[in-house]
Amino acid sequence: MAGAAREPAPVTNVSREQLATAVRALCADFGHDYWQRADEARTYPHEFVDALTDAGYLACLIPEEYGGMGLGVREACVILEEINRSGGNAAACHAQMYTMGTLLRHGSEEQKRRYLPGIASGELCLQAFAVTEPDAGSDTTRIRTFAERRGDRYVVNGQKVFISRVRQSDLMILLARTTPIDEVEKRTGGLSAFIVEVRDAGDALRVSPIDTMINHESCEVFLDGLEVPAANRIGEEGRGFRYIMAGMNAERILLASESIGDGMYFIDRASDYASARKVFGRRIGANQGVQFPIADAYMDIRAAAAVRDEAAREYDGGETRGEGPNMAKYLASRAAWKAANVAMDTFGGWGMATEYGIERKFREARLYMVAPVANNLVLSHVATHVLGMPRSF
Ligand SMILES: Cc1cc2nc3c(=O)[nH]c(=O)nc-3n(C[C@H](O)[C@H](O)[C@H](O)COP(=O)(O)OP(=O)(O)OC[C@H]3O[C@@H](n4cnc5c(N)ncnc54)[C@H](O)[C@@H]3O)c2cc1C
Repeated sequence: MAGAAREPAPVTNVSREQLATAVRALCADFGHDYWQRADEARTYPHEFVDALTDAGYLACLIPEEYGGMGLGVREACVILEEINRSGGNAAACHAQMYTMGTLLRHGSEEQKRRYLPGIASGELCLQAFAVTEPDAGSDTTRIRTFAERRGDRYVVNGQKVFISRVRQSDLMILLARTTPIDEVEKRTGGLSAFIVEVRDAGDALRVSPIDTMINHESCEVFLDGLEVPAANRIGEEGRGFRYIMAGMNAERILLASESIGDGMYFIDRASDYASARKVFGRRIGANQGVQFPIADAYMDIRAAAAVRDEAAREYDGGETRGEGPNMAKYLASRAAWKAANVAMDTFGGWGMATEYGIERKFREARLYMVAPVANNLVLSHVATHVLGMPRSF
């Protein structure tokens, strides 16, 4: 995919196999009943997130000099994949792992020293990432939230939607316009990224939860004269779009890993059930009409995992293009959704009964067809940026 990528540094202190085993052991303490209860009560899985934080996994991408584990995206993929394969939902906390990447790559040394050690220890939660707006949707360059410079601060006004885990966050990365769109040469210019200290914002930052079909803690955020110190701008003014996009590549690879974990959860459960359930005097898995779709879905997951592995290896080696991350996210989300439907079919009516967990995972797996980027937008990226076809927008 990318000839220019450097060879990634080897992981010296922990192998990916050891990491997978350790994460699996942690997840074993948070089984089906735990996640089902949280889903039904729509509560945040604090105990699980605390356990992951205490084990250091959410700090895996933070360099050791700032208190993290200093691992690569390849290792972070293992952690998220194992959580979802166990039946858990890494979306409860995945952003604590990678949202700090914008700060790490483009923040000043002073900002990194101020925030990263607290994020690594879990003392500071940076789980929120505010990009999406109601009118702009997938067209991020059309966001209208505006940060106006006044002396040593910016005053921010606007609205964001689907901002996940803002209520669990001390810090939020915010993308806002700092130059009106009709005054910039390129639509991607004139956008800036900021670190917002959520707890100090008072009434200038109001949050209203959005009910969704999954337990996801997503919110509308209203910014009404929010003052952000200029010292909290990340990097140069007007270059925020580029900074955010670099972080999105990591996010796409990591969320592809959650889809792969979801997919394997469905395959594990469906093949076990098909091997045990007897109807018409034989196990349903002996019928090719039942076993072939499971085998077919499994191969799609393996193929998506191979593309994800390649994208992660390239990312860790310094690749910055979106080709691999986008393809991994697209293929993995589709493979998981296919496996979700196969599991539903295999379980018959019991697929819909909450006690088996399939219906909860079915709902959760569907998210990644649309977030963090809608799959149509991935097709557009591959068609125009990779294959060089004419742009439609
Ligand atoms: C549970 C959840 C959590 C989220 N968390 C966050 C978060 O933490 N932070 C954040 O910033 N955002 C978050 N999002 C937002 C998410 O990234 C957006 O929903 C997503 O990018 C799509 O934007 P939209 O919903 O406005 O859809 P739209 O952009 O309105 O698109 C609607 C449909 O039209 C299609 N479409 C649009 N334009 C084109 C085109 N040119 N060609 C072909 N098809 C097109 C899309 O593929 C999609 O199917 C979250 C969303 C959800 C559901």
